Amino acid sequence: MDAVVLDGRGGIALETRPVPAPGPGEVLIAPGATGICGTDLHLIEGTYAAGRYPLVPGHEFAGTIAAVGSDVSALRDGDLVAADPNLSCGECRLCRMDAPNLCERIAALGINLPGSCAAYVLVPARVVVPLSPALDATTGALVEPLSCVLNAVKRAPGWQDAVMVVIGAGCIGLLATTVAIHLGAAEVHVVEPHALRRDRALALGARSAATAATELDLADRVDLVLDASGHPGAIASAIPLLRKRGRFIQMGVAHPEATIPVSPYAIYAKEVTYLGANSCGSSFPAAAEMMVDLADRVRPLVTHTFPLARYADAVAAMRAPDAVKVQVA
Ligand SMILES: [Zn+2]
Ligand SMILES: [Zn+2]
Repeated sequence: MDAVVLDGRGGIALETRPVPAPGPGEVLIAPGATGICGTDLHLIEGTYAAGRYPLVPGHEFAGTIAAVGSDVSALRDGDLVAADPNLSCGECRLCRMDAPNLCERIAALGINLPGSCAAYVLVPARVVVPLSPALDATTGALVEPLSCVLNAVKRAPGWQDAVMVVIGAGCIGLLATTVAIHLGAAEVHVVEPHALRRDRALALGARSAATAATELDLADRVDLVLDASGHPGAIASAIPLLRKRGRFIQMGVAHPEATIPVSPYAIYAKEVTYLGANSCGSSFPAAAEMMVDLADRVRPLVTHTFPLARYADAVAAMRAPDAVKVQVA
């Protein structure tokens, strides 16, 4: 079978590999679509600590079951499915805290195990989630980023009736905007420097979209700020928007050495909370379910689709200003 293979030094090759055979508890999936995200860019360059090479990338995917292991009865050939790429141990302290994304012995498809940028990918049946027939591989491959947003909802619940600010209108920021409106947020405001992306946020129902948090005129009025930018300056300027008991959700991946100035007095006086939300947690099945309601709204977020053999072109397309989600299919 064809497989994209990364060497962790910027190299991207198309190789021929044997089709794996599912063992007990495993299924073979023929991916129909795989999304590329910032993590993949780090994996290509070898700047993602968990990457193991040579690596077949691809951790955001949906496809059809091509074969099942001897003891797998709940899934059948041809079923449309997605899969949580994170394989947790289920036993460590963090797994027992319902934080499988932080598992002490985590492995992940497309990170340190072969991923979906190949004709077939081998997946443990326990992480496979059947998709509604109302979905397809394109929207199915968006279940993984949606599950990351639902993990943020789980970390900081109560989006209904909230006044929210989302920083960054890339794929995660736009999905967060969509989820907030779906869950009944009172107002969603978006901070994003690129005009094309601000327009997308407004089209999805954002109340306003500004180039900087300071333009929003929302000081001390915001219940929830969700950062999907990782940009220290944007993060710092949005913290003063929080009202008393406001919560700041850090989803964006900042540079590991970046820091921001915070006012300990403001944290004390307003009793604000600053918390992190990282990867999908245990929200993958819930995201597969919610995708049925959101599919028509989020399908336009897939702006570019390339065949597998053009993986390098797909990666280059991510840098286009109009790109939101690039998929290989
Ligand atoms: Zn990703
Ligand atoms: Zn664990």
